[in-house]
Amino acid sequence: MSLLQVTGLVARHGLLQAVSDIDLSLAEGERLALVGANGAGKTTLLRTLAGIHPAAAGRIVFEGRDVTALPAHQRTALGMALVPEGRRLFKSMSVADNLRVALAAHRAGPWNFDSVLAAFPQLVPKLKAQAGSLSGGQQQAVAIGRALMTNPRLLLLDEVSLGLSPVAVQGVYDSLQSLLATRTTLILVEQDLQRTFSIADRIACLLEGRVVASGRAGEMTREEVMDHYFGHRT
Ligand code: ATP
Repeated sequence: MSLLQVTGLVARHGLLQAVSDIDLSLAEGERLALVGANGAGKTTLLRTLAGIHPAAAGRIVFEGRDVTALPAHQRTALGMALVPEGRRLFKSMSVADNLRVALAAHRAGPWNFDSVLAAFPQLVPKLKAQAGSLSGGQQQAVAIGRALMTNPRLLLLDEVSLGLSPVAVQGVYDSLQSLLATRTTLILVEQDLQRTFSIADRIACLLEGRVVASGRAGEMTREEVMDHYFGHRT
């Protein structure tokens, strides 16, 4: 059985259809990357899967349960967690409290306050600092740590490198290694194609809200993905 089964998913911003008739299936442990130019609908798709943006049509089935109409917090409780674009931390709260808020949705599993800090040791000296005072890379670590605290079965990662220096990006990905080693099921949006190919098992190329190509990462070339990225092969 698929962990996630999406059929005919549509999401709109007003009159604009940002996600059009998307079908996706993800097995436990699989890592899917969504690739596409700015505005292709990647963020809207992740937000719709997480329940932050409403689905206008279609179905999202998670572990055999139709979650399409469930609010975001109930999806988190079932094991879906989003690391949102822009991180969305509680900036005036401490780092420790930003991590602890996720305890409300904590499920049994390997991740807890201590194991998250072991994965992101750069946060240990910052626990009492206001989250908003941290560097971009450290804030991203808090955002990922907060999602991990819930012990997700499916983690949705939206552009974790956005706005970070190359050194900070490397730091975030180094910390992600312990997560990747657990084979957590992932849907990832990442602009850096080299990283995308090194992490993902499967790639889906989005253009104007539709999946225009998809395949196993080992069977798609970067040139192919780039062509779809810019819409040359539609
Ligand atoms: P990016 O890489 O820039 O985040 P994306 O692939 O994630 O792009 P979305 O952010 O999902 O794409 O945007 C899809 C479409 O929806 C775009 O045309 C965008 O302009 C539009 N859109 C996104 N958010 C809103 C919003 N809050 N209100 C109106 N239109 C929006």
